[in-house]
Amino acid sequence: MSYAVPVPVVPTARVAGSEALFPVRRVYTVGRNYVAHARETGLGGSDGSRPGVSLRPADGLVAEGGDIPYPPGTAELDPEIEMVVAMGRGGSDIPPARALEHVFGYAVGFDLIRRDVLRDCIKHQHSWDLCKSFDHSVPVSAIQPAARIGHPTRGAIWITVNGAERQRGDLADLIWSPAEIVARLSALARLEPGDLIFTGTPKGPRAVVRGDRLHGHIDGIGNLHVRIV
Ligand code: MN
Repeated sequence: MSYAVPVPVVPTARVAGSEALFPVRRVYTVGRNYVAHARETGLGGSDGSRPGVSLRPADGLVAEGGDIPYPPGTAELDPEIEMVVAMGRGGSDIPPARALEHVFGYAVGFDLIRRDVLRDCIKHQHSWDLCKSFDHSVPVSAIQPAARIGHPTRGAIWITVNGAERQRGDLADLIWSPAEIVARLSALARLEPGDLIFTGTPKGPRAVVRGDRLHGHIDGIGNLHVRIV
């Protein structure tokens, strides 16, 4: 067996307390999943029947401590602090009551957005893909296995930039819980081991610039540090 071009490397995330790496297949991001942030976007919240979902490139992963080159084509780069669900088992039409059995663990993630480009896409009714999917757009901490920390339902989630707080919320304020997200998403697309799901951000994401140091934290899960370069 040979390949016509070099085979891409499988993107991976670290697993806390383990040498094993977590191979990443797809990266989903759920939008407007905290009431206060849904209001400030002016786009409203989830419509009650399904969460709003985007896809990010798995090869956009950046690990804890990594550098993020400021992306081209934007003048307004917003990091959104989010809890990330890492899938350990796949499935379609997973019932909410069984959904957490499919979860391998949880991580701290920054969902990076080209906010100015996003506004322009909305105005001109263009696809949002390149506002949200670009190189280095999904930094993720080490994954904490649920076998070790359980399934968080509350706890502070915050981000500081150069030591100053930018966003703060609580996991208890998620509109769609991880179990509901897994159930709903698995009804729209088959989930597989290695899928990551970003669960939305609290209110207040604001732009960062080159040289900024970002620190994200979620109680019971951990920390994520990156630098914009
Ligand atoms: Mn987001």
